[in-house]
Amino acid sequence: MTQTNAVRPLFLSFDGIDGAGKSTQRDLLTQWLGEQGHDVVLCRDPGTTEAGERVRDLLLHRKELDLHPRTEMLLYMAARAQLVDDVVRPAIAAGKTVLCDRYLLANIAYQGHASGLELEDVRSVGKVAVDHVMPDLTILLDLPEDVAFPRLGKNLDRMEAKGVAFMHRVREGFLKEAEVYPHVVVVDAAQSIDAIQTAIRSAVTKRLKELAR
Ligand code: ADP
Repeated sequence: MTQTNAVRPLFLSFDGIDGAGKSTQRDLLTQWLGEQGHDVVLCRDPGTTEAGERVRDLLLHRKELDLHPRTEMLLYMAARAQLVDDVVRPAIAAGKTVLCDRYLLANIAYQGHASGLELEDVRSVGKVAVDHVMPDLTILLDLPEDVAFPRLGKNLDRMEAKGVAFMHRVREGFLKEAEVYPHVVVVDAAQSIDAIQTAIRSAVTKRLKELAR
C-alpha cells in the first residue's frame, strides 16, 4: 500500500536515569521515523546550541564545581530556553519531527524529587524556560538503578557521579511524574533492545493517531 497521508510532525523527548538506553533507542527510532517520511531533528538538553553546549560542559564535566541544586536547575533551564528558541520552535514551525534527549521532566526528577527543590518552583521556572513548547510525547525509559548504574562505565559525569541512591530517587521521581502527566509514557527498559523499540514505536503510533483526531 502506498502512503499518501502527509506525515504529522511530532515533538518527542526521551528521559529516564542514565544508562536506561535513551541513546540506543533514540537512534533506532530516528531511523524508523525517517522511513515513515519524518524529517527528524535531533537535539539534546542541555546542549545543541552553542550556549547550551557550554552550559552542558559546566553542568556535566566540571566536576570541580560545587553547584547547588538551585544553581544547577537554573543553568539547565537557561540552556533549555536557548534550545527552544533556536532549535525546537523553528523546527516544529518548519514541519520537522524533533527528538530530544531529555527535557523539562529531567529537572523535575533530578533537582526536584532527588535533590529536594520545591517541585512547584521547578515547574514555575520551567514554564518560563519552555515558553509553551512542550513535547507531544515523552518516552520514559524505566530501569532499576542497580541495573543501569553498572552500565555507565568508569568515567562518570557530574550527575552520574551522584551515585546509586541518588539515581533511585530520580527514578522514583520520574515514575511519580508519569502518573501526573498523560504525555509521559513509561516503557519497561529491562527488556531486550528490540522489545523496547517495539513498545516505543507503538506509543509513537498511538500518539500520532490521537493528534490526528
Ligand atoms: P543512556 O543514553 O540512557 O545513558 P545508552 O543507550 O547509552 O543509555 O545505554 C547504556 C549502555 O547500556 C550501552 O552500553 C548500551 O549498549 C546498553 N544497553 C542499552 N539498552 C540495553 C538493553 N535493552 N539491554 C542491555 N543493554 C542495553
